[in-house]
Amino acid sequence: MKKFKTESKKLLDLMINSIYTNREIFLRELVSNASDAIDKLYFRSLVDEKVDINRADLAITVGYDDDERVVTVSDNGLGMTKDELDKNLGTIAHSDSFEFKANQAKGSEGDAKGAADMADVDIIGQFGVGFYSAFMVGKRVKVVTRSVDSDEAWSWESDGVDGYTIKEAHRAEHGTDVYVYLKDDTDDEDYSGFATEHRLTDLIKRYSNYVRYPIQMELTLSRAKEAPADAGDDYRPEYETYTEVQTINSMVPIWKRSRSEVSQEEYDEFYKTDFRDFEAPARTISLHAEGQLTYDALMFVPAHAPYDMYSKDYKKGLALYSSGVLIMEKCEELVPDYFNFMRGVVDSADLTLNISRETLQHNGQLHAIARRLEKKVKQELASMRDDDREAYERFFKEFGRTLKYGLYTTYGMAKDTLGDLLMFYSAKQEKMVTLDEYLAAAGDEPEAIFFAAGDSIERLASMPIVTTVLGKGHDVLLCDDNVDEFCMMALAEYPFGEGDGRKMVPLKNVAGEDLGLTTEAEKEQAAKATEDNATLFEAMAAALDGKVEKVVVSTRLTDAPVVLTTEGAVSLKMAEMLKHAPGSEEAPDAHVVLEVNAEHPVFETLRAAQEAGEAAKVAEYAGILYDQALLVEGLLPDDPVAFAQRIAKLMV
Ligand code: ADP
Repeated sequence: MKKFKTESKKLLDLMINSIYTNREIFLRELVSNASDAIDKLYFRSLVDEKVDINRADLAITVGYDDDERVVTVSDNGLGMTKDELDKNLGTIAHSDSFEFKANQAKGSEGDAKGAADMADVDIIGQFGVGFYSAFMVGKRVKVVTRSVDSDEAWSWESDGVDGYTIKEAHRAEHGTDVYVYLKDDTDDEDYSGFATEHRLTDLIKRYSNYVRYPIQMELTLSRAKEAPADAGDDYRPEYETYTEVQTINSMVPIWKRSRSEVSQEEYDEFYKTDFRDFEAPARTISLHAEGQLTYDALMFVPAHAPYDMYSKDYKKGLALYSSGVLIMEKCEELVPDYFNFMRGVVDSADLTLNISRETLQHNGQLHAIARRLEKKVKQELASMRDDDREAYERFFKEFGRTLKYGLYTTYGMAKDTLGDLLMFYSAKQEKMVTLDEYLAAAGDEPEAIFFAAGDSIERLASMPIVTTVLGKGHDVLLCDDNVDEFCMMALAEYPFGEGDGRKMVPLKNVAGEDLGLTTEAEKEQAAKATEDNATLFEAMAAALDGKVEKVVVSTRLTDAPVVLTTEGAVSLKMAEMLKHAPGSEEAPDAHVVLEVNAEHPVFETLRAAQEAGEAAKVAEYAGILYDQALLVEGLLPDDPVAFAQRIAKLMV
């Protein structure tokens, strides 16, 4: 006997003994594997002359024996060689995702709510270890298989505890049979019930209705015997039973059916099975296009981001079918990057089967479909925003970054599509708002959409420049996501009003140059004060040794002694991020200005020191104020130790 790898054992344990109760999905998993194996065989036949198959023969057979208490799932697919059998069923293929999910599962074990959630969660689908689910209902599982590349057949057998044995076997043709020997019945679970025609047909219809190959079962039916020729008026028909092989699943792809015919439960079930998600989708979109280009599309907005969504391995795309036959599992061309979270299928008879990667990229039909789908997705998201705000906010929490990132990476080109889908936290309204909502609350003549960027909403809300702008009656959007500022920069402006009255309102960083909130008189006054204190400010700038472009009297401060602002497009936080980005050698610097509050007592102290000729003191204080301003921005002083020492020295 061969032993299972440790991680496989852990998983088996977790699965068999878990709080997970939805044991019946084992059938769906085995049927999916069978369908995959037939798909693989079909693909092989397209490229390999030696593999000669008749498409009409491809089928999955489900059977049972109620005496022996066995359920069987057979297919005439690709089958497995001895090595493949050992490799595929002896270890868990997706050990990476397993680690990840296992950790997640652990995380929510602790509290009762977590446990309840887990019970609902389709753990098996999450793990992507379908085959092992057979051990949730089977005390023993046997697999007999023969590869299309081999004359030998092999059997694999295991009790799902420690290990498995592989032996030589017999099978007339290529394909695989899985025998599930059911566990003994308990008070809680009627395992024998699985070995019944009624239960199996029910499960096939529920979970595997759209599998593309026929799922056949030998059904026991009854019929009335033919009446004898001399049957009188009082003749009562006699019945006899007979058996007949029938196809249980509908096989009509769900995306070909009209929306009104399909229940949301069916869509959810299809989504969960086909896209291996444990949660039903947030939104289902179906589309049937006719005319120039005929195609059916079924798309889903997932309820949550997949764990690898923001990793570089994540692949976007929709499954592409031609008349019900899968051409490509993830066709990237069908979705723009900023909708990369969409899952779904597109089926068009107008596309040829043997379409290659290269031709796809230049395929005009495909681009036309993609454009239409993009519009449709946009429409759906907009209606979700308007009709079901709560759901939309949940969506935005999961995928908002993708939209914002999309605006930035397309250099604002996608702003018509994405602009009105964005949401930010409003400091005034203390909730998430769209840009339209910001403007609607900003009166008849909004001058700008103000925003502040930093690490946390709380910190931003208390930043001096933010409170100053709020104090003047304007709302400020608090942006705590790294991508926000880049997104705002790409967007640059946003339309307000309709028709002739429509105008573009600029987006302004409250730390940026001219906020347009000061009167000419105030500006002049500040300029004059700056000039009057030129020597002090030059001394401070010199002490800061290139860290700031200049020091000036501020027009925007009320309480704080100083604030850092920037001239030009690059803000401090942005410069900081760009410095740490890959390929950062050419990262631009921010043009930093130290603005001093002329009304603040600290300013008097500085002036007094300057007049008394205490150059060292001026330099020292300039350093402290600069570092302080950095801290307020959520950035670290260049030399935190020196900063701490300076403060301590002041206190002594
Ligand atoms: P997954 O299907 O997610 O890869 P499973 O644990 O269900 O994981 O199956 C592991 C592997 O075993 C499959 O990837 C496939 O290579 C092989 N396998 C399972 N069932 C069959 C089958 N009916 N025919 C051929 N190969 C199969």
